[in-house]
Amino acid sequence: MGLCNGVWNRRAPELRPLPKTVMPIQDELLSGWLTRLAIANYCDVVDLLAHVGVDYRYAVSLDFGLEAGAAEKIAMAARVTPELIQSLTFPTLNDTEAALTARFPFQACPNCTPRSFTLKHWRRAWVFDCQICGAMLTSTLPKLGKGVLPQKLLQHARTGSVLLEQAVIQNSIRQIRRAMRGASFAMALKNVSGDPASALQSFNPDIRLFCLAAIAVVQKRPLLKAALFATGIDDFARVALLRTYQNEDRLLVTINRIGRQIENRRHASRSNTIERT
Ligand SMILES: [Zn+2]
Repeated sequence: MGLCNGVWNRRAPELRPLPKTVMPIQDELLSGWLTRLAIANYCDVVDLLAHVGVDYRYAVSLDFGLEAGAAEKIAMAARVTPELIQSLTFPTLNDTEAALTARFPFQACPNCTPRSFTLKHWRRAWVFDCQICGAMLTSTLPKLGKGVLPQKLLQHARTGSVLLEQAVIQNSIRQIRRAMRGASFAMALKNVSGDPASALQSFNPDIRLFCLAAIAVVQKRPLLKAALFATGIDDFARVALLRTYQNEDRLLVTINRIGRQIENRRHASRSNTIERT
């Protein structure tokens, strides 16, 4: 209720600004900044969103699109501009970017996360290192990331991530298709089902890094690599490979031919070794 021209009118209660505000850092994600804002005001994000009148159930999706009204409410409470709030969300993504941008945090920075920072680029499947401190990003499920990863795998994975980034930035259909083929081969070898974009955002570093590494590996002589993968794989992996090449019969025939040649050569060298011993 408010007094207007001497008459009490019913109106929406005014939103009180929060006692403390925090300024976003470069590339900070809205959900991460809201968490820091809540910590600064001794509450949690659910309470904070309830205070400003935004449904907390949409907290995760806020990063991917925020209604103007909600942005205004948050801005008013935090004493910043609605434009600043909107800049913390992802801009409109094309189909490839959307497929390769995680809805949930699958990796984080070992240095920046303890400082309560959550950055946008960590959600990108092609990002390997933290752009703020330079540390290699690690899985948000530490149990899955405990093993020591071979240096060679890490080197290839880093190269693969750069190639994937270039493909996405240039929006090159040919490069993206080649990268996804590489990831599909890796999935076939690891007996992982699903689509390559999801495998590249896997919480399991063994799967994610293997897929990124495969992107780098298939750049040179991709058919030969595919054929190498095709030899000595089980039926599940063969189906995955067939699915990768389902619309390209000619390539599939070539891969099978090279695969058979490799298999024959292996048999021949094995027989020679047995004869010699
Ligand atoms: Zn960092």
